[in-house]
Amino acid sequence: MLRVVVLGAGAGGGVPQWNCGCEGCRAARTNGHDLLRTQASVAFSGDGEHWFLINASPDLRQQLNATPQLHPKAGALRHTPIAGVILTNSEVDAVAGLLSMREGSPFTVYAHEKVLAILASNSIFNVLNDKTVRRQPIGLSEPFEPRLSDGAHSGLEVLPFAVPGKSAWYLEGKAHPGGESSDGDTLGLKVTDKATAKCFYFIAACAEVTDALKAEIDGAALVFFDGTVWRDDEMIRAGLGHKTGRSMGHIAMSGDDGAIARLADLNIDRKIFLHINNSNPALLPGSNERQQAEAAGWQIPADGTEIVL
Ligand SMILES: [Zn+2]
Repeated sequence: MLRVVVLGAGAGGGVPQWNCGCEGCRAARTNGHDLLRTQASVAFSGDGEHWFLINASPDLRQQLNATPQLHPKAGALRHTPIAGVILTNSEVDAVAGLLSMREGSPFTVYAHEKVLAILASNSIFNVLNDKTVRRQPIGLSEPFEPRLSDGAHSGLEVLPFAVPGKSAWYLEGKAHPGGESSDGDTLGLKVTDKATAKCFYFIAACAEVTDALKAEIDGAALVFFDGTVWRDDEMIRAGLGHKTGRSMGHIAMSGDDGAIARLADLNIDRKIFLHINNSNPALLPGSNERQQAEAAGWQIPADGTEIVL
């Protein structure tokens, strides 16, 4: 059985974002709970006892507090069910939570060499002692089995694959410590329970839906997909910034080239948007955009949503 918990469904900054007065952020501050979103991450487990994270967001500590499955087991003085963290990119909202996992419990960080190079070049990540926190490189199209913290088999398989994207924005115009090839900047993941062959896909950053990507995910039981913006220029139109979704490496939900249209003809049981920016009107229950997304078969998840495959 494969269990997946959405730890956070928001994009970088979360909802509300600390310095934002847009409609969604104001509503989240005043109307509260239903609108709050922490930054995107999911946890998954094959046995309900040992867990792996996909990305470690800056909200990780809050997410762990809110998720009983990830608490230390009763009676243990020091323990975590988290055996590993798989990183799909090097953005702040994907890696900063590692700094909240520094108290000596063993686990493994799985990431492409380009992302590991960024961690290695930032000395603050040395707070994760490499004797207890192993760094394991993962390669494009090379499936691997994440191991439990004692090295035992997890019974799971993770397949990283290339997705159109870009390197972290803080590296724009700067030399990348992992080299200039764009391979490995943005990964999608396929996670499979080997005992049941059930699987899900995690693609929380995607600049374009290619035919190869469509072929990869067609027929899937569950796909988490990039839901950063509703329309490409929404941040500019709202006066929130000068960046388009595409310039940040994110496809829009709507439009002829958007995720909803491009994935409409695929046979996917459950489609869930993740990494939803506070500017995205589909976050607001009752909005036209939310209704359109749901009518097209997409879910805008609350933090804490659990799915069993
Ligand atoms: Zn906002």
